[in-house]
Amino acid sequence: VYRLQVRNVSKTYGNCLANNQINLTIQRGEIHALLGENGAGKSTLMKIIYGLVRPDAGEVFWQGEKINLNSPYQARMLGVGMVFQHFSLFESLTVTENIALALTKTEKWDLSRVDRKIRILSNEYGLSVNPDRPIHTLAVGERQRVEIIRCLFQTTKLLILDEPTAVLTPQEIEKLFAILRRIAANGCSILFSSHKLKEVQSLCSHATVLRNGAVVQECNPQRETPAS
Ligand code: ADP
Ligand code: ADP
Repeated sequence: VYRLQVRNVSKTYGNCLANNQINLTIQRGEIHALLGENGAGKSTLMKIIYGLVRPDAGEVFWQGEKINLNSPYQARMLGVGMVFQHFSLFESLTVTENIALALTKTEKWDLSRVDRKIRILSNEYGLSVNPDRPIHTLAVGERQRVEIIRCLFQTTKLLILDEPTAVLTPQEIEKLFAILRRIAANGCSILFSSHKLKEVQSLCSHATVLRNGAVVQECNPQRETPAS
């Protein structure tokens, strides 16, 4: 049974068909790339899966059951986490304070407990995040790792990342890929978008290529090269 199955999902903005009858499946521990040019519909599909955008038509199945995803809160309850292209961290607060702030909406966590868990997650996945640093002192790659840790605080079964390599240097990209492989090896599925197949070929075992809102190809990028 698939962890996530998207069936015939469509979404129109005005007269722009952002997603046209999209089908997509993701298994446990699978690393799946959504490839396509700017405007192809990648962000829209990821926001639908995360419950930020409501599709006009289609169905989403989570572990075999049809679900009605209509809020990020509901998505998080199922175990879906998302890292956006534009980060949403408070600059003057530390890593620990930022994560504690996100958590208090669901349950009470004291700062020392948050601090401990950051260190554990950081070690487990090679995230090398220092919990005491204020966000404004962090480089962009470190901020992204804080966002990933924030997702991992919840039981994350599907981690979605919107264009995660766009802001990173080649060395930081390699580091991110190593982290994502460790997360996936633990059974978490990963869905991320990119417009450069070459850059992500070594990471993903599955790829779905979108063009003008529709799926034009599905493939295993490590065995076959998708048509451009
Ligand atoms: P990608 O992530 O591949 O760049 P998007 O899903 O962001 O693609 O966008 C797909 C299409 O939908 C684009 O033509 C974009 O301009 C349009 N679009 C996305 N979000 C909105 C919105 N909130 N309102 C109107 N049009 C939108
Ligand atoms: P991202 O790819 O991280 O969603 P974008 O810059 O593509 O960032 O879009 C920023 C916001 O603007 C998104 O919420 C998106 O849905 C919206 N948007 C994108 N294209 C359009 C558009 N043509 N008209 C109105 N809103 C849009």
